Amino acid sequence: PAIDTVILEIDKARKQFGGLVAVNDMQFTVSAGQIVGLIGPNGAGKSTMFNLVTGVLPLSGGAIRFYSEGQLRDIGNLPSREIVKLGIGRSFQHVRLLASMSVLENVAIGAHLRAKGGDVMEVMSSILRRDSKIENSLLAEAQRQLERVGLSHLMQEEAGSLALGQQRILEIARALCCDPTLLLLDEPAAGLRYKEKQELAELLRKLRDEGMSILLVEHDMDFVMNLTDHLVVMEFGTKIAEGLPQEVQQHPAVLEAYLGG
Ligand code: ADP
Ligand code: MG
Repeated sequence: PAIDTVILEIDKARKQFGGLVAVNDMQFTVSAGQIVGLIGPNGAGKSTMFNLVTGVLPLSGGAIRFYSEGQLRDIGNLPSREIVKLGIGRSFQHVRLLASMSVLENVAIGAHLRAKGGDVMEVMSSILRRDSKIENSLLAEAQRQLERVGLSHLMQEEAGSLALGQQRILEIARALCCDPTLLLLDEPAAGLRYKEKQELAELLRKLRDEGMSILLVEHDMDFVMNLTDHLVVMEFGTKIAEGLPQEVQQHPAVLEAYLGG
């Protein structure tokens, strides 16, 4: 899609867990070639928002639309594997990889998902049970994505031996195998050293400059302020502010949410 095309539209999305409204009529968009940050205190509903977009949780109300084949389509009721196929890739808040498998094999799981469908954990466990093997074409795709993120020199290493920053980038390579136009990253900078954060930010800018859209949840404010083009702030399931990072940072409700709580 052309730069600035709306590729994700969150339209009064709502999620209730019993009496708790975790996501309350949220509304925002992500455009092609844009890095959008979703921030807010713990329990604000950020991960739930991600789970709605990726089809992990069903919506309680509202709609989520994603741009594919020339138009915005309702993805609110699609299963995860269909959403992955349409072009939404994700990483998880806690790194999920198979520590004793190679970097290449871990990334090939992403290529396997794209080719065969299914759920990450399902595919991993079937590979561990050895009732699914990774084919050469999938390994080739994994290698291409490792080159793209600058990790191909480590592809034969055990994934568990990598530094945390490299593991995060491995996870991004895995998500890239599904050929996404939108990447969802849940706290990609958490626990990283300063230099690792800089390398991660550099990679995300590179992907954005290639036309990728990125929606990320992040607590590290320096990281968010330096990287994002647009910020959406949530508290108690509700959007309390959005706009340019420097503007949002000064917003009274945001200062209150971060400092007054
Ligand atoms: P954040 O990622 O912003 O920290 P979450 O989306 O994880 O927040 O959680 C938002 C709220 O929804 C919290 O109050 C949390 O306890 C609740 N919640 C999240 N997932 C579930 C679930 N599966 N069942 C019940 N409550 C949940
Ligand atoms: Mg969370």
